[in-house]
Amino acid sequence: MSKLERKQDRAPVPSEWEYAPAPEARDLVKLRERYGHFVGGEWLEPRETYMTIDPADEQPLAEIGQATPAEVDLAIGAAREAFENGWSDVSASERAKYLFRIARILQERSREFAVLESLNGGKPIRESRDVDLPLAAAHFFYYAGWADKLEYAFPNRSPRPIGVAGQIIPWNFPLLMLAWKIAPALATGNTVVLKPAETTPLSALLFCDVLRQAELPPGVVNIITGDGHTGAELVKHPGVDKIAFTGSTEVGKAIQRELAGTGKRLTLELGGKAANVIFDDAALDQAVEGIVNGIYFNQGHVCCAGSRLLVQESISDPLIGKLKRRLATLRVGDPLDKNTNVGAINSPQQLDKIKELVASGEEEGAEIYQPPCRLPEKGYWFAPTVFTNVAQSYRIAQEEIFGPVLSVLTFRTPDEAVEKANNTPYGLSAGVWTEKGSRILAMSQRLRAGVIWANTYNRFDPSSPFGGYRESGFGREGGRHGLEPYLEFE
Ligand code: NAP
Ligand code: MG
Repeated sequence: MSKLERKQDRAPVPSEWEYAPAPEARDLVKLRERYGHFVGGEWLEPRETYMTIDPADEQPLAEIGQATPAEVDLAIGAAREAFENGWSDVSASERAKYLFRIARILQERSREFAVLESLNGGKPIRESRDVDLPLAAAHFFYYAGWADKLEYAFPNRSPRPIGVAGQIIPWNFPLLMLAWKIAPALATGNTVVLKPAETTPLSALLFCDVLRQAELPPGVVNIITGDGHTGAELVKHPGVDKIAFTGSTEVGKAIQRELAGTGKRLTLELGGKAANVIFDDAALDQAVEGIVNGIYFNQGHVCCAGSRLLVQESISDPLIGKLKRRLATLRVGDPLDKNTNVGAINSPQQLDKIKELVASGEEEGAEIYQPPCRLPEKGYWFAPTVFTNVAQSYRIAQEEIFGPVLSVLTFRTPDEAVEKANNTPYGLSAGVWTEKGSRILAMSQRLRAGVIWANTYNRFDPSSPFGGYRESGFGREGGRHGLEPYLEFE
């Protein structure tokens, strides 16, 4: 309890306001000691296993299967059989019914899922509770609505499912990425084999429970766990008709090379190095909130993160001053505490990558700022960081850091802002902050990015297509566009 202080003759008030710990109940989650692969509606005892941990304290959580080529083959076989013997004949409104059920069950069990997502991934509970879970359920609701309207979505084109979709997802939004992948695949009548990321398999495994509750026919969705080797097996297996991948540009390129000439369909959602552009007429306090949400949301483990801040020179000093003051109020620590803003870094590998890039920024001559904050001793942590005096050639201005690190550059004219914003091999997202509607429209036509936010950042909606250009990948997820990669046409 903090000290009370008397000011003039008013009642005494605490001299400094402290937060009491407000942890979410961890026992909402009942973990098994060991998980297998979910194949054909049954749990398959895994031949090889590894341990998944809590990145906030390095404690082991459960033993997880590392799928071998034979197990990958079984899962694809189960998906093929489900596709050919039933699922492709299920009426569209019936498919919608399953998707609605899944959405409803996710809502009912959202607290349990949110705790699990924070435990296994390190993200703050307020984000898994208020962003990941509501959006995951919303995706299933949204695509449930499309299932029996495909003829209207694609008139006179006779849409048909492709067959078996192999889906590979990353660790930054484990359940949400699962929803982005599975909901459109099922709405269009495909069956699925999905591999979650090695470090964050638990919410996908709990989702298998939801599939059973929803009475989805066996084999329509199969979940196999493991590392990149399992992913590579899934990609090259001849029984897969389509691959949907979200992850690093490097692995995305390898997958594209592997699939060249096979006739398999492919969508890639890869990295980014987005510019968040602040003009001198923007509402500065609002912009500061948008900058913080743009780069410190989910510890910066976000492909569309606003990792390059472009500020008009005339407002640079006051804006950076406000931003630094705001950073000092961010609470870094226990992901399960409801007051936490910035949680744990997902893995030691990712922490090393962040540290390496931050060191390069200091060496190349950028000026670093980190607010005073005490990081927990166990687990993987990195303080929110801002770099000023950044040149475009620095690695921290070019490479995706995928951590809570912002690089600030300045510009004088809109032309210069566009040139700098587009000076990247990526093209996933961007932000524009200005009072002028005409400038928003002009900028959004000139910025080469798949998603452009105006006077906001990191806002998502299932009806809005998401995806990139160039090294950020191709294909769209979300909206009517998100159905197309899962369909064949006459
Ligand atoms: P990654 O290796 O590309 O992982 C993405 C998914 O692909 C994971 O499920 C991964 O399994 C799997 N995978 C790995 N190698 C594969 C292969 N050869 N064939 C098929 N699947 C394979 O990404 P990461 O290692 O988790 O992160 C590295 C960097 O990628 C990050 O620092 C960040 O820059 C970027 N990234 C981008 C996004 C995004 O949303 N666009 C998401 C995550 C990471 P494992 O989990 O076992 O590796
Ligand atoms: Mg990897």
